[in-house]
Amino acid sequence: MEKHDGKKRVVIIGGGVAGSLVAKSLQFHAHVTLVDPKEYFEITWASLRSMVEPSFAERSVINHRDYLTNGNIVTSNAVNVTETEVLTSDGDRIHYDYLVIATGHADDVPQSRRERLNQFKEDNQKIKSAHSILIVGGGPTGVELAGEITVDFPDKKVTIVHKGPRLLDFVGTKAADKTLKWLESRNVVVKLEQSIDLNELTYEQKTYRTSNGETIEADCYFLCLGKPLASAWLEETVLKNDLDDLGRIKVDGKLRVVGRTNIFAIGDITDVPEIKQGFAAQQHAIVVSKNLKAMIDGGRECSQCRMDTYKPQLAMAVVSLGRKDAVAQIPFLTISGRIPGLIKSGDLFVGRTRKQMGLNPDTSQA
Ligand SMILES: Cc1cc2nc3c(=O)[nH]c(=O)nc-3n(C[C@H](O)[C@H](O)[C@H](O)COP(=O)(O)OP(=O)(O)OC[C@H]3O[C@@H](n4cnc5c(N)ncnc54)[C@H](O)[C@@H]3O)c2cc1C
Repeated sequence: MEKHDGKKRVVIIGGGVAGSLVAKSLQFHAHVTLVDPKEYFEITWASLRSMVEPSFAERSVINHRDYLTNGNIVTSNAVNVTETEVLTSDGDRIHYDYLVIATGHADDVPQSRRERLNQFKEDNQKIKSAHSILIVGGGPTGVELAGEITVDFPDKKVTIVHKGPRLLDFVGTKAADKTLKWLESRNVVVKLEQSIDLNELTYEQKTYRTSNGETIEADCYFLCLGKPLASAWLEETVLKNDLDDLGRIKVDGKLRVVGRTNIFAIGDITDVPEIKQGFAAQQHAIVVSKNLKAMIDGGRECSQCRMDTYKPQLAMAVVSLGRKDAVAQIPFLTISGRIPGLIKSGDLFVGRTRKQMGLNPDTSQA
């Protein structure tokens, strides 16, 4: 068994937005182990900019070791969890006193930072060498990618095909309408209520047929579809009854798995009633780090210790549209253009997020 010098063992499963922040925050307070199949934490909302400007990813793809200087990193998938241990696909058995589950959404990304940076360079080459580009999916990822391409490469012909009746179905219709107007003013063609048969897609083809029988000419395509939650691995574990019908983990106000005293869940994987966003995931991480510190100091059952209660976020969202514009939905108001762009679109919160992780905001050096 790993030595833990009498410190409580906190195991965090998932090194994304939420899990990485908890690991960073607790590393000098507990014996921390982070389990993640990747060697790095990625600021996901910077990934579309990195496709048009690959050097942008130098600051937004961060090796776990850069911010987690005093913890264990296990580069593997968690495949099972018991009352006391986490089991990984490589056969590790990791004991815990406290467990934090933060496996968010399943994504097929490379294991190393170098490979991930190369992936952005390849995407960038694809964009540069294409005259016409098809984006499948008109959610935030597809819209932001279209914005990045059309601002940096205004001569490219971009088409978005989206299954739903409007873009950005996670926000209100006003935000969707303003986004559509902005994209159309930059000659992006948006085809709503249509889909592309993914089984028929190949990278060699140049002609794509939509479900309505329309034909789209494109030199390359990008899939920007919602990803499934990464909770299937919990379905045969002691936590199987703690998942709701959508595969989300049921949590209480302190972000503990309902009915558990020493297992927390945070980020997109939870059933907290709010829009699933990085900002919310960071707030979950802050609350749980504080609650874990209180529990570690106060003892496991911790009937006396003061824990924070998480308040679900209001339905706010900012979708960037290239480097200067954005659409923002804030309570009672939806605006688009330069003003919301000032909030997000320049640096995409990368400097701020790096600072939160204890890193230099301006360079990729730790
Ligand atoms: C392209 C894109 C753009 C976005 N833009 C924005 C934005 O502008 N603003 C915003 O607020 N939000 C944005 N989001 C949403 C935001 O990224 C998520 O809400 C946030 O990442 C959720 O954090 P999380 O820690 O719950 O999950 P994730 O960040 O998804 O992290 C999950 C982690 O778990 C790991 N994992 C998965 N399965 C296992 C397993 N079995 N064992 C161990 N580890 C596992 C993964 O490798 C990953 O590291 C965007 C998302 C994407 C994809």
